[in-house]
Amino acid sequence: MSLKTPEQYEESLRKMNFKIYLLGELVKNPVDHPIIRPSMNSVKMTYALAQMPEYEDLMTVKSHLTGEKINRFGHLHQSTDDLVKKVKMQRLCGQQTASCFQRCVGMDAVNAMDSTTFEMDRKLGTKYHDRFIKFLKMMQAEDMTVDGAMTDPKGNRGLAPHQQPDPDMFVHVVEKNDKGIVIRGAKAHQTGAVNSHWVMVMPTIAMTKEDADYAVSFVCPADEKGVYYIYGRQSCDTRKLEGGTIDVGNSQFGGHEALMVFDNVFIPWENVMMCGEYEFSGMLVERFAGYHRQSYGGCKVGVGDVLIGAAALAADYNGAAKASHIKDKLIEMTHLNETLYSCGIACSSQGHKTASGTYLIDLLLANVCKQNVTRFPYEIARLAEDIAGGLMVTMASEKDFKNPEIGKVLEKYMQGNTDICSTEDRARILRLVENLTLGTAAVGYRTESMHGAGSPQAQRIMIARQGNLEQKKKLAKKIAMIDKK
Ligand code: SF4
Ligand code: FE
Repeated sequence: MSLKTPEQYEESLRKMNFKIYLLGELVKNPVDHPIIRPSMNSVKMTYALAQMPEYEDLMTVKSHLTGEKINRFGHLHQSTDDLVKKVKMQRLCGQQTASCFQRCVGMDAVNAMDSTTFEMDRKLGTKYHDRFIKFLKMMQAEDMTVDGAMTDPKGNRGLAPHQQPDPDMFVHVVEKNDKGIVIRGAKAHQTGAVNSHWVMVMPTIAMTKEDADYAVSFVCPADEKGVYYIYGRQSCDTRKLEGGTIDVGNSQFGGHEALMVFDNVFIPWENVMMCGEYEFSGMLVERFAGYHRQSYGGCKVGVGDVLIGAAALAADYNGAAKASHIKDKLIEMTHLNETLYSCGIACSSQGHKTASGTYLIDLLLANVCKQNVTRFPYEIARLAEDIAGGLMVTMASEKDFKNPEIGKVLEKYMQGNTDICSTEDRARILRLVENLTLGTAAVGYRTESMHGAGSPQAQRIMIARQGNLEQKKKLAKKIAMIDKK
């Protein structure tokens, strides 16, 4: 099987043996848990869209390894066209879910792992790339969702991994034998962790010789013995326990992050893809981060499309759509959103082939893309809140609307432009704006825009490194006729 149906994906998760803590309790049935379920639905959408003929070209691709038709989320980019289609696919998924659909971290991890293990083997004579390809074939054949795990808790940020008072602040090797390695530590903010079949673990920073035990990469089943999860809270998450569909804003879809703990987990050698080769840790981090910074030029744009649409509807329902300042604000939101998309497309179309044959984005442009993502969604959200009006955060609850006595009162006083909307329609759109700007989806649209794929300063370091200031100085000197000899 190379393409799972959405139903098969859901069933495959039911067979897994996850250990997940949420709100202080062990979760018995994650797939149907009301807080987790919407995030599973978002990943499920990546399987559903791949079944639709109209999205076949974006969502599926021929595997360069087997010739089979596979989901693009499991593909190694073979051209700049593949890189562009990746961004378009992510915009589509963002539009369809209005949330983080989580599956990109695995896609970005395998693309980074491919070229890095290839170049590492070539320089050091290691044998990691063959292991990686074996894993990738399984991932493609079983249409797996893989979680790319990079971010360590890091403890005291002023200290290197080996200097930390608690050695577990970075994932590390605690034992090596002829069968494999034993791993301890944790990965923080793991997007889509409990909706994934396998996990691909990577180091979080460039390492030095003293940190060799921390330069470790491997794959393991997401429900491996010794792996457990502590589910992250999101603003307004317990509204999902109330059973309604209005107050949550987006009752069908969502995203999630979790703390992923490795408590002495055994990894057989066949699943190890870096173990002590600290010189290649930085390359893996830089490439994974670059791909994920490109990703944001697609996914956040798709979610932005929904937010712009919601703001425009809120204006229609308020009867304010004809006001010139409203029209101008919607133009500004569109301009900002399409600027992000332009960056996503630009870094893709300017990509290049690496030694393994896999295409890498233009790293400078990918970092510029993500730097803009740390800013523009905030302005788009600000304008959406401006257009929506204060009712978005002062409106009564769904239960009040359904109360036989006060429901009628709310219907009367909360009405808008009754020619085109019911009071409930108006409430639904305002709650959607709330969800995207302040609620559960704000994790993905706002704070993740800031810190996901690396905080703003991480991009500025890369921009400084890739910006080629010396060449720009030469250009200026030439025009100004300085040192002209
Ligand atoms: Fe994909 Fe965007 Fe979520 Fe990252 S934040 S996993 S790129 S949807
Ligand atoms: Fe992310």
